[in-house]
Amino acid sequence: MSTLSQMQPFQWRVPLSDLDYGPQEEEAVLRVLRSGWLSMGPEVGAFEAEMSSLLGSKHCLAVSSGTAALHMAMLGLGIGPGDEVIQPALNFVAAANMTEAVGAEPVFADIISLENPTIDPLSIEALMTPHTKAVVVMHYGGHACEMEEIYELCERRSVAIIEDACHAVGARWTGSATDPTSGRMLGAVGAVGCLSFFSNKNLATGEGGLLATDDDMIAETLRRLRSHGMTTLSWDRYQGHASSYDVVLHGFNYRIDEVHAALGRVQLGKLGENNRRRGELVGSYLDALEPLQDWVVPFCTSSRESAHHLMVALAPDHATRELVVQRLREVGIQSSLHYPCIPDLAAFRTRATGDLAKTREFVSRAITLPLYPTLGLADVDDVVGAIRSAVA
Ligand SMILES: *Cc1c(COP(=O)(O)O)cnc(C)c1O
Repeated sequence: MSTLSQMQPFQWRVPLSDLDYGPQEEEAVLRVLRSGWLSMGPEVGAFEAEMSSLLGSKHCLAVSSGTAALHMAMLGLGIGPGDEVIQPALNFVAAANMTEAVGAEPVFADIISLENPTIDPLSIEALMTPHTKAVVVMHYGGHACEMEEIYELCERRSVAIIEDACHAVGARWTGSATDPTSGRMLGAVGAVGCLSFFSNKNLATGEGGLLATDDDMIAETLRRLRSHGMTTLSWDRYQGHASSYDVVLHGFNYRIDEVHAALGRVQLGKLGENNRRRGELVGSYLDALEPLQDWVVPFCTSSRESAHHLMVALAPDHATRELVVQRLREVGIQSSLHYPCIPDLAAFRTRATGDLAKTREFVSRAITLPLYPTLGLADVDDVVGAIRSAVA
């Protein structure tokens, strides 16, 4: 059997992210293969119930990807032509693409600061118009947005919050004593929360995603949208619960399958410990990066809970960032940028934005360093040693 390492023409010594997969995942896949049922069925149901209990959300719907979840969230909230959706310019492009996919207009907001690169409530407020239908928040790197302020802002104007919680699975939001959302899990704060289980996420199944909502009506629509707008599933009919179906809206096939759900259940069991381990590694990075002059590590003074999806550091300037990225590559250490500024990408150049000065500075200086639960402490020293030698 050819292994992944034999197939890859190039091998990083320290990759950006890596799976924590082992015998339990293998066993889960075999269990499904031997069950004789591959498409959405009992494993998906069990995974959804387990995610509901983690998130404290009344309804959790597993879907084929985080992007599918975002698409359905937009549709489930009735977002369409003529609507504006305020969202971070600093985000993966999926939310912006799905805004366009439903015929609405993305409006891009700035970050709060280099230390807190989440969407700025002041920028949101400045961009609100009578056409604003929703705000997308993205908990950057697993760190919560300022949900108390954003929630208050949106409640006042009856604007829905969509949480792009793809980085933030397993972290709890804590606001002030008077914050009605305080204590909820990230992904369960807004009207609809969207998670991703892509291979590099904290809970990884290869492809996969999840929608979370407490709203019965929205959940019903999402359930239909997931499977062609049909009122019953193949599994229901196989179980003898139904023999026919109606089609009540124009839906998709955004279902997840049993293999991915079974992997998700095993990964969910590891999530708490793995997020804790990520936090510990971030602590080691902070200690090692401390002596570097004029570097900024976002969230380094935050006491809030985080899923620690990413380890991001900001070089003093763009030229230093480029130098460091080059050096890391030369010594076999993979790094990345989360993310380019979306309205600077070709397909979004004509879209409305606020003043994005802080986002653009962040993007010119940021480096994402390797972070995953199986990363060693020696690897952290190795990565930071390479950075130090590059800037010496
Ligand atoms: C991964 C990711 C997505 C998209 O999820 P997929 O499962 O890859 O479709 C969207 N937003 C953010 C912030 C992500 O990290």
